[in-house]
Amino acid sequence: MTKKVRVRFAPSPTGGLHLGGVRTVLFNYLFARKHGGDFILRIEDTDQSRYVEGAEKYILDCLAWCGLNPDEGPLNGGPYAPYRQSERKENYRKYAEQLVNDGYAYYAFDTPEELDQQRQVTANFRYGHENRNSLRNSLTLSAQETKTLLEQGVPHVIRIKIPINETVHFYDMIRGGVSFETNLVDDKVLLKADGMPTYHLAVVVDDYLMKISHAFRGEEWLPSAPVHILLWEYLGWKADMPEWVHLPLILKPDGNGKLSKRDGDRLGFPVYAMNWKDPKTGETTRGFREMGYLPEAFVNMLALLGWNDGTEQEIFSMDELIEKFSIERVSKAGAKFDFEKAKWFNHEYIKKNQVSGIKHQVLEILKAKDIQVEDNEYFEKVLETVKERMTFLQDFWEQASFFFEQPASYDLNAVKPKWSDAKTEFFNELIKKYEAETWEAASLEVAFKALADEKAIKPGELMLPMRIMLVGGKFGPGVFDIAVLLGKEETISRIKKAVIAFMAE
Ligand code: GLU
Repeated sequence: MTKKVRVRFAPSPTGGLHLGGVRTVLFNYLFARKHGGDFILRIEDTDQSRYVEGAEKYILDCLAWCGLNPDEGPLNGGPYAPYRQSERKENYRKYAEQLVNDGYAYYAFDTPEELDQQRQVTANFRYGHENRNSLRNSLTLSAQETKTLLEQGVPHVIRIKIPINETVHFYDMIRGGVSFETNLVDDKVLLKADGMPTYHLAVVVDDYLMKISHAFRGEEWLPSAPVHILLWEYLGWKADMPEWVHLPLILKPDGNGKLSKRDGDRLGFPVYAMNWKDPKTGETTRGFREMGYLPEAFVNMLALLGWNDGTEQEIFSMDELIEKFSIERVSKAGAKFDFEKAKWFNHEYIKKNQVSGIKHQVLEILKAKDIQVEDNEYFEKVLETVKERMTFLQDFWEQASFFFEQPASYDLNAVKPKWSDAKTEFFNELIKKYEAETWEAASLEVAFKALADEKAIKPGELMLPMRIMLVGGKFGPGVFDIAVLLGKEETISRIKKAVIAFMAE
């Protein structure tokens, strides 16, 4: 019988969500959807010293923004609730004790001071097979001594007893066969002195209890895999162990190491999905959302970081991604993050989106700048005209402010050196012609060119000044399209005003 597909994203709520984390969410989500399975969000918050206020809500908001909502999780519950490990505390101790009873783990009573002392005398001290027989634990103490210490409530942890001279083999769906020598693995703590499990114990217990079929996670967790595999075995659950899927790292643009938040700060791009405000320092790290990314573009870009469908196709709808995603096509090698490419995706999505799909977000951005849009129909037409020039939603105002207010200044350097009386005359006559003209782009252009012919001036020499009259600078959509949108009165008023400015001096 094949197992029902159940996958999980299991973040520790310690801060902003790195784009690598969102990609893990995405691959989980696509895989679950493709196989008619369940996608679970489990909050791994057992390390209370790393708990950060607001981080869980932030993760939920990121998933919602990306449209990658879990089927089960702390917000919507589910048959395996609770989905926060801190609320599942009672589940873990019994398994840790079962491991002790079966000889796969032991109580360790060493105080933090004693361990510090060990670290001082032994370079690269690791608690493990080399020294566990000389430290203060239930392997070295008698059964009676251990019992007494436990009864007295002496603080202790439970550690896994990693076997000596064994090789742990396992199969990873991306990497194939992987093996680790146990002699290189230390005796990880499973249950801490505060009674909370560590990540290692909790992840295995919960993947088992929640019937997880495939464990997707970043490659940085690969070194932890042997500990987890031994736990699956020692707890007697090997037959139910999930398939392992360690996703390739997302690398710095130059390919030199893992992309970090600091690289983003240094190179001027976001690494987090959304703005993250550190409650301790008050410092805000910016995110893709606030930079003006559309969630569909962000998700599409992430899908291609380490995966492709074997063709040249780069733009995929969510339905296409669900249909085409397969683990076989996820690459083993790290994926270099390319910000230019990330921008390209956003530009493509803004271009292909209907105005109705982006206008609310653009209006929000304008509102934040204290810009009121009075005429909705006009705003929509402007957005339709400039959207293909926008890389980010924020670019709207830069690309379109001249549609709402007269240029505050002109790029005089672009017109003055070549200005002439003949050009002044041309525009004075153009004003008259335009006053009588039907206001459509095609007829405005015909009239413009006919007058240029009459005056024996190349239209190309007049187009740029005309653009600068209407826009202020050398950018924007077609000149006659701009004129049509501005309307007759406004266009003529701008030409009049600019002719005077261009003639001056
Ligand atoms: N809690 C781990 C994290 O913060 C999850 C790793 C895993 O998925 O096993 O990423």
